[in-house]
Amino acid sequence: MRRLAVIGYPIGHSISPAMQQAALDSLGIEAEYVKIEVAPGDLATFVQELRAGDWGGINVTVPHKQAIVPLLDSLSEEAAAIGAVNTVVVDGSRLRGHNTDASGFKRAIRDDAGFDPAGRNVCLLGAGGAARAVLWSLCESRARRVLIVNRTVERAKSLLDAASRWNDWAELEVDLLPSTWGEWSDTLAACDLVVNTTSVGLHRSDTPLPASAIPDGATVMDLIYNPRPTRLLAESMPRLRTIDGLPMLVYQGAAAFELWTGLSAPVGVMFEAAERARIESSH
Ligand code: NDP
Repeated sequence: MRRLAVIGYPIGHSISPAMQQAALDSLGIEAEYVKIEVAPGDLATFVQELRAGDWGGINVTVPHKQAIVPLLDSLSEEAAAIGAVNTVVVDGSRLRGHNTDASGFKRAIRDDAGFDPAGRNVCLLGAGGAARAVLWSLCESRARRVLIVNRTVERAKSLLDAASRWNDWAELEVDLLPSTWGEWSDTLAACDLVVNTTSVGLHRSDTPLPASAIPDGATVMDLIYNPRPTRLLAESMPRLRTIDGLPMLVYQGAAAFELWTGLSAPVGVMFEAAERARIESSH
């Protein structure tokens, strides 16, 4: 049997196994998708084991997305530019890294939020691994201006440096997460899309930004999918178009499934399974 897995540390929260197993079963593919907790110190050994076993591939999540890059044999164009891998395809003993977070974001914002980033102004909250993939996608989609806002300004600058190497058209700026959003009214007034890629919001009472600071007509996306809605989305909903992180999770998973199997992913089945798993994990 071919094996698939998601690795992370911790990994207990992941709903990828429910979603991917449902997809495999619905197409009658005899493979098992499991979650494996891999501590940072064990990553190199685990990757070596991938070359020998009956593996089809893996998904990679926090904290391994960047650390796994030098352990692989080759990278897709996106993964190389973004500097992070969330999907590995095992081909014999060779390992190729991909980043399907970028295409997952692109499909979610287009198909589920009906938002085309081309020529638009974006406020990107966060500068971690997810932000790198989102920024790549925004630049590829020809967003006009992206303001990167992060608690740690050095990390935001490092993202800006990386993005400057692959961005030819968007105007990129970087700033701190301000303590008072009043200072930001002018900046946010021109903003068409706010994307929260920080982990602020995983706790129900936290929000990275008061929704009242976001102008009418903007779209708000939170990459967090549990709780649903996050406080940011709940406060935005009455006035603004909102989208949570579940569609992106499903689409990045569907793209990974297609890389492993060469088959078209059953996206409807994956949405249903992910939704069920989200509800179960929130109890
Ligand atoms: P990282 O650890 O790489 O980055 C975390 C980000 O959150 C950093 O910008 C960090 O800022 C910021 N942050 C964390 N705590 C605070 C705080 N207390 N105040 C202000 N900022 C804070 O994580 P990822 O980028 O991989 O993931 C981020 C989120 O996106 C997670 O919630 C994850 O579940 C979600 N995600 C969703 C996906 C989907 O498909 N829906 C895909 C990938 C991720 P600093 O640099 O200052 O530390």
